[in-house]
Amino acid sequence: MPERIVIIGAGQAGAQAVATLRVEGFGGPLTLVGDEPFPPYQRPPLSKAYLAGTFERERLFLKPESFYSESRCERLHGVAATDIDRGARNVVLADGGAIAYDRLLIATGSRVRRIPVAGADLPGIFYLRGIADVDALRGAFAAGKRLAVVGGGYIGLEVAAVAIKHGLDVTVFEALPRVMTRAVSPQLSVFYESVHRKAGVRIEPNVSVESFEGAGRLQFVHAGGKSHAADLALVGIGIVPNVEIAAAAGLACDDGIVVDDCARTADPAIFAAGDCTRHVGREGQLIRLESVQNAIDQAKHAALAMLGRPLPYREVPWFWSDQYDLKLQIAGLARENDELVLRGNPAARKFAVFRLREGSVAAVEAVNAAPEYVVGRRLIADGTPVAASRLADTSIPMKSVA
Ligand SMILES: Cc1cc2nc3c(=O)[nH]c(=O)nc-3n(C[C@H](O)[C@H](O)[C@H](O)COP(=O)(O)OP(=O)(O)OC[C@H]3O[C@@H](n4cnc5c(N)ncnc54)[C@H](O)[C@@H]3O)c2cc1C
Repeated sequence: MPERIVIIGAGQAGAQAVATLRVEGFGGPLTLVGDEPFPPYQRPPLSKAYLAGTFERERLFLKPESFYSESRCERLHGVAATDIDRGARNVVLADGGAIAYDRLLIATGSRVRRIPVAGADLPGIFYLRGIADVDALRGAFAAGKRLAVVGGGYIGLEVAAVAIKHGLDVTVFEALPRVMTRAVSPQLSVFYESVHRKAGVRIEPNVSVESFEGAGRLQFVHAGGKSHAADLALVGIGIVPNVEIAAAAGLACDDGIVVDDCARTADPAIFAAGDCTRHVGREGQLIRLESVQNAIDQAKHAALAMLGRPLPYREVPWFWSDQYDLKLQIAGLARENDELVLRGNPAARKFAVFRLREGSVAAVEAVNAAPEYVVGRRLIADGTPVAASRLADTSIPMKSVA
């Protein structure tokens, strides 16, 4: 059993690791170091109910204060870890302090990708990663304002859905031919584009933002060779994993801190979990996931490995997105040549697209369709063979399709 554990990053994975370490019997000193001025909080509501003003800040926090005292977890907030001295097994802090560790978990998450165009520093241009970002954006939200959303991914579309309901005039610029390209099938993209358009959002696919312009504040977005007047812009063009501290310490990084399927780095004292990692996935490939599921499950496996009880991480990835009255739930990972099977009717706003690979379900994208999601996720985990015709047949209940 290690004597002293330090966790860098007080987010979803960091908080989970504290819980699992204590549940699994670690009794030694435990320190959680976070550079934000808040206790660990959940990010998904930020672009949904918290932005809409229907979710209080207190509800964002993942654990009550009593959890940390009962877990005997020393918390350092508002202080960044700046260096890992692997020889001395010390974490160096921005305030000049240092903490010794026997086992170290790096759970530094990710940060927004900045848009590298002229005018990108103008006031009125926002990003969305943390509480402070949403508070700033919300302060600028007002009916009638023209909002340019740069990037038709989850975050951009979730913000667009909230903004149009608040009476803003919303245009989404997406560089690729369809929205949510990386995450969902063409059927889902077509469906979501039509829902947004019906709600009044302009969707501009195949349009890249070239620059921003304004006298002291954003006034125009130049995109696709045209000028669009705008009062605000929300840029949601992806994230960059926070690997610098690991890379500087000589740990392997490749678009994420490279870990094995037990969240171990090549240094036997150092582990990593969450958005900051690139790990060996269920199918043996190196993947980087950006989700609550991954942060929680990988942190659990990291905690076990830190306690000398490594257990390979094989959980099926899952994700969700809320836009309007639509709950999108996704399980599994898409591949380009998957056979796509539609079940249900998109016009009824309740359907699912299954991705079949070698005769079994590899992924499911379910819209307001909980049974399809729940059973689909189980079919993925079990690898049960299933016929496309049965999946498509809504007269066969989901629980009986396999
Ligand atoms: C707006 C938004 C909406 C989202 N919606 C969904 C959703 O609907 N479903 C879903 O599954 N996922 C969603 N996600 C993704 C999900 O929130 C992340 O995948 C998850 O938070 C990752 O957890 P993590 O612990 O790896 O990172 P984080 O929760 O980001 O925590 C990492 C923490 O480490 C801190 N840190 C970084 N470097 C240092 C350092 N050197 N020293 C100290 N502290 C440091 C960071 O500031 C941060 O507080 C959303 C994310 C955002 C931003």
